[in-house]
Amino acid sequence: MHLHTKLVTSGRTSAKKVGIVNTPVHHASTILFPTLAALREAQKDPIRNLLYGRLGTPSTFDLEDALADAEGGHAAIACPSGMAALAIALTALVKTGDHILVVDTVYDPVRAFLNHTLTRFGVEVTYYAPAIGSGISDLIRPETRLVLCEAPGSHSFEVQDIPAIAKAAHASDVIVIMDNTWATPLYFRPFEHGVDVSIQAVTKYIVGHSDCEMGAIICSEKTFPDIKQQATRLGNCVAPDDCYLALRGLRTLAARMPLHQAAGFRLAEWWGAQPEVEQVLHPGLPSFPGHDIWKRDFLGASGLFGVVFRKGTSEGAVRALVDNRRYFGIGFSWGGFESLILPTDPKKLHPETPWPYEGPSIRIHAGLENVDDLIEDLEEGMAAFRAEQAAEEAGK
Ligand SMILES: *Cc1c(COP(=O)(O)O)cnc(C)c1O
Repeated sequence: MHLHTKLVTSGRTSAKKVGIVNTPVHHASTILFPTLAALREAQKDPIRNLLYGRLGTPSTFDLEDALADAEGGHAAIACPSGMAALAIALTALVKTGDHILVVDTVYDPVRAFLNHTLTRFGVEVTYYAPAIGSGISDLIRPETRLVLCEAPGSHSFEVQDIPAIAKAAHASDVIVIMDNTWATPLYFRPFEHGVDVSIQAVTKYIVGHSDCEMGAIICSEKTFPDIKQQATRLGNCVAPDDCYLALRGLRTLAARMPLHQAAGFRLAEWWGAQPEVEQVLHPGLPSFPGHDIWKRDFLGASGLFGVVFRKGTSEGAVRALVDNRRYFGIGFSWGGFESLILPTDPKKLHPETPWPYEGPSIRIHAGLENVDDLIEDLEEGMAAFRAEQAAEEAGK
């Protein structure tokens, strides 16, 4: 079955029972059994049988089936946010005395979780540069338990050589976890490139409408039992209404992503033609340092990319560009139908990796608006940028 068909047909078990299209929202804590024998029978498979609301309802099970099928993994665990998915997966896989390797461009709140929570339990963390590739083997010690990857980095967009990292990690029996949020299951197939556990911030493109927080841990067959058990012990539980929104978003992912991709490329090329721009951080552009790996391993690009301005560009000029846009909202997160613009500070976000640029940078999310309208909006923004630069020059 092709991926697009899976996105439409997977995880519809509970809807089919009623004869409707979408999975119903099952609100439940107590589940009632007709007899004690039936309750005991259900307890034999607490992962798949309906037992208690926190352990999952048909809304959860359908979403998890669909996410596992989409990503190409064995099974998925829905979590209340992408951050929770990362924290639960990491907690599940390590014990006191373990050492873990984490890409320096990791989603920033994960760094805080590692440095302030996991290290308190005696887990040692080493941050490695995203370009490390097979060189990761030099950092692997007898007590190294896992490598956490994220490609591309969500502010600086470095692409990682996942197959090379996975090969080196597996040679030492080290597990590979990857945050695959940027590419979505459409544009990167983690399990085909050696990843053991894939993380999706479902909040982003899968939900797709900026109205729900959700995360998922998608596991290989070998990693699923331990992670699932730990997730349950930690009280992991998602709301059925949110499962509904995430499943509904997943159904149209394949229709939305090519539009985000096309708009992202158009805008990236437009930015590349602006004289004030030093570098466009878009893995799909041949001028981007990680482009060859992206081309080899990825099946497409989402709508999120960065722009670095030339050295000497003032904060005021960037502010003039960002403020008062008609279509580009100012805000965190991405993956919704709307375009976004946000100043970023990659140098601060990955302290262990050299950052070759001195100018300020922004991050763009290309939404589903007409791209000519978006370019017109940015042209007005750059006019404001230039006017501010000129005024600052004149005032010196
Ligand atoms: C947003 C994001 C997360 C966290 O997702 P939330 O649902 O907001 O907790 C994790 N990884 C990446 C790459 C993200 O962009």
